[in-house]
Amino acid sequence: MKNIYDVIIIGAGPAGLSAGLYAARAKLSTLLFEKSKVGGQIATTDEVANYPGAVPGSTGPSLVTRMLEQCRSFGVVLKKEAITSIVKAGDLFIVTSEKETYHARSVIASPGVQPRLLGVPGEREFTGRGVAYCATCDADFFTDLEIFVIGGGDSAVEEAIFLTKFARKVTIVHRRDQLAAAKSIQEKAFKNEKISFLWDTVVTEIKGEGIVESIIFKNVKTQELHEYEADEAEGTFGVFVFIGFIPQTELFKGLLEMNDAGFIISNEDMKTNVAGLFVAGDCRAKSLKQLVTAVSDGAIAAVQAEKYIEATFH
Ligand code: NAP
Repeated sequence: MKNIYDVIIIGAGPAGLSAGLYAARAKLSTLLFEKSKVGGQIATTDEVANYPGAVPGSTGPSLVTRMLEQCRSFGVVLKKEAITSIVKAGDLFIVTSEKETYHARSVIASPGVQPRLLGVPGEREFTGRGVAYCATCDADFFTDLEIFVIGGGDSAVEEAIFLTKFARKVTIVHRRDQLAAAKSIQEKAFKNEKISFLWDTVVTEIKGEGIVESIIFKNVKTQELHEYEADEAEGTFGVFVFIGFIPQTELFKGLLEMNDAGFIISNEDMKTNVAGLFVAGDCRAKSLKQLVTAVSDGAIAAVQAEKYIEATFH
């Protein structure tokens, strides 16, 4: 049999990079797989202001570069390959990529999530230039400006309430005439004087030159289109999209226990229902999905993997 690795990590976002660092520092032979961009969501975040000790102006990409260098300096091997299947045979995991088959004593699943996109013209172009998907990360950029929050679930309404601490006005734009969020959250929003509502409305286009300057809404009942332009003195406004997240957990379906939304279920030691297979990061069912909790998950998963290997193979 070919080389057996101690740990295979699937997904090189902050959770996977942190797991790699902790695994390699524990002298475990570690392979880290990434099918697209190293760094996950943080790789597309311009400024990381809410990570403890972050240097002012430090960017997501620079942080990711340093995390990866740190991992490599301790011996983690990064492979830019998509994993296509994972099977447990006896005590070993057989992990197959589009190129090769690998064997490992333990696996850490950290495939992350993707925010569900509106899929309208201008959305991708203005991401980071007015269009945002994380209030905790980006609210500060919209201090005293106007913000539209798209969505009607718990995330949208909770984040809209949070955004009122920064924005001068927040409008929740929802495609129906009543919110989907929990009643207790709704009540808080209805009482908040800075929040207004645009019902039965969807976004059809986001426009501007360099930054968001206008947005086109459609009333789904009347089909009427309306272009809203930024206040002349302000020149721009925020569009925060919270219409759900899509966990990238397809690979683990049938193997790992997940909730109805496809997030992997684990205990506080990152253990899943499969012995030796741990989970870390935003793909895990948990209450706070942030950089700081992703790296924490990764560290815990790697330490638990080390303990598992010690108990199972030595
Ligand atoms: P969600 O519950 O899936 O809600 C998504 C919202 O976006 C819904 O209101 C939906 O409208 C709307 N939507 C979906 N696709 C859309 C589209 N293409 N255009 C316009 N609107 C669209 O997502 P979430 O709010 O992120 O919550 C995800 C999970 O986390 C939920 O289980 C939630 O309970 C949980 N969560 C809990 C808390 C908390 O307990 N404090 C906080 C945040 C999240 P419809 O209503 O018409 O379907």
